[in-house]
Amino acid sequence: MATWHLGVSYFGNRDPRHVDRDLEEMAAAGLTFVVHTFSENDLAFYAGTLQEIVDLTHRHGLEAFLDPWGVGRIFGGEAFSNFALEHREADQLTPTGEPLPAACPNHPDTRRFLHEWVEAVARTGADGVFFDEPHFYHRNGRHGCWCEACRARFRDRFGHPIPETFTPELRAFQMDSLVDLIRELAGHAKDLGLKTSLCLLPHVEELDTWPRFFGLAELDIVGTDPYWHNPWLQLTGEAVGRHVAEYARRVATLAREHRKEPQIWIQAFRIPAGTEEDVARAVRAAAGEGVRNLAAWSFRGTAFMSSIRSDQPEVVWQTLIRAYQEVRSRG
Ligand SMILES: [Zn+2]
Repeated sequence: MATWHLGVSYFGNRDPRHVDRDLEEMAAAGLTFVVHTFSENDLAFYAGTLQEIVDLTHRHGLEAFLDPWGVGRIFGGEAFSNFALEHREADQLTPTGEPLPAACPNHPDTRRFLHEWVEAVARTGADGVFFDEPHFYHRNGRHGCWCEACRARFRDRFGHPIPETFTPELRAFQMDSLVDLIRELAGHAKDLGLKTSLCLLPHVEELDTWPRFFGLAELDIVGTDPYWHNPWLQLTGEAVGRHVAEYARRVATLAREHRKEPQIWIQAFRIPAGTEEDVARAVRAAAGEGVRNLAAWSFRGTAFMSSIRSDQPEVVWQTLIRAYQEVRSRG
C-alpha cells in the first residue's frame, strides 16, 4: 500500500483557538500535512504564534511545513516585503536603476535574511520548509534585475556585460541564480533537520531548467502547481485532467530520476461555480501519474480570502476531500 501525503495550505488566521478547530477538521478529513504560510509579517510579529500553531498541527497528528510566503517578493504569495523597503540597497533594479518592490536573490543581504527565515522555521519545530515559486520580479511590464550583484555575477559567468533587455541568456542567468539560491537555502534547512520541498511555476519557457532544480541533493520533495483557472488560462472539464496529467507526468518522471518525492498542487481557489468537479479531475489526473503527495491551495476553497476565493468554496472543499479519499482508497 503506497504512503499518501495529502495536504492543504493554511493562512490568514493567527488565533490558535480557531486554528485548533480548523486543524481538527483537516485531521477528520484524512489530511496528513499542512503548509502554513510564514510571511515577513509573521516572522516579525507572529513567530511565537506560529510555534503554537505548529504545536497544534502536531497534536492533531499532521505534519507542518512552513512557506516563505511572499518573502522578499522572491517567493509566491499575496504578501508584501518589508525587507525590500528597509534594505533598498538589496532591491531588484530595472535596467535604468529604478528600484522594484522586491529583494534581489543575488544580493548578499537578501541571502542572509533568507537564512534567518530558515532558522526561524527551525525554531518553530516545523517538520519542513516549502519553497514556493522562486522567481525574479516581473510585473506590469517591469523586470528585475540589473543591480550591482547581478551585473557582477553576469559578467563573471558570460564574460560580457548584462544585456539591457530580457534575452534568453539573461533568463538562463536568472534561472541559474535561483538554482543557486534554492541549493543554499535548502542546504541550510537540511542542516537544521528540516525536510525540504520546492514548487516550480508551470512556465513552459522554464521547463528546460527543471532537471537542475529537481536534481539538487538538498531537496526531498519536488513539484509544480499546474492551476487551470486564472486570468491567463481558463480550462474546464477534460482539458483540466489533461493539463494536470501532463505536468504530473513530467514531475513524476524527473522525481524518479533524481530519487525525490513528487508533489502536485491542486487548485482550490478561484474555482468558478459549476466547475468544482474539475478539482476532482485534477486529483485523479495527478494520482493517475503515480503522484502520492498532493496538496491543495488552500483550506476550505480559500473562502477566507476575497481576492482569490472560489465562488462556492464549500463545494470546492467537499469535492477535494472526496477526491482525496477516493484516490487513497484505490491504493
Ligand atoms: Zn540583482
